[in-house]
Amino acid sequence: MNRKYEFNWNLLGNISEGRPNLGPLVSTEVYRLMQFCFRDILENNYGTEAADRLFYEAGLLAGKHFYQNTMNKVENFSDFIKSLQLILADKGIGILRIEEADHEQGKFVLSISEDLDCSGLPELDYEICVYDEGFISGLLESFTGEKFKVKEVDCWCTGDRTCRFVAELIKEN
Ligand SMILES: [Zn+2]
Repeated sequence: MNRKYEFNWNLLGNISEGRPNLGPLVSTEVYRLMQFCFRDILENNYGTEAADRLFYEAGLLAGKHFYQNTMNKVENFSDFIKSLQLILADKGIGILRIEEADHEQGKFVLSISEDLDCSGLPELDYEICVYDEGFISGLLESFTGEKFKVKEVDCWCTGDRTCRFVAELIKEN
């Protein structure tokens, strides 16, 4: 396919030059407005399942580029998590904690508090952080070189005060 919109980091532009007075930050409200309107339109056009899949894929793509362009390359998992914690807090994305790490099975449980996508939203009966699921999957894949399936199991929106994700290595047979 002849692509018009293939992502690369340069598309984010030179923000200090482009926004000398306003600076690099926008409100969480504006970020959520765009994300949730995108999701509304995707669902309306393609259905709920496809909207979720597209959000997951977009998150995954973002996670890979985020890793490539913002993170220091480190050798071991705990250094990876440490630098991820710092950058996620620094960018205002959330406060990351690792709750369980089973390196043998390739299974991790992690939580993100004050999550950019959902913290403070009204209560719903489903987890909403599908973009985050993909984002975490993209980060883990970039660091480990292996693919991970990530599922949110608790969310601010389901009454928890944090978002909790289970990441599992996709084992190739
Ligand atoms: Zn959530």
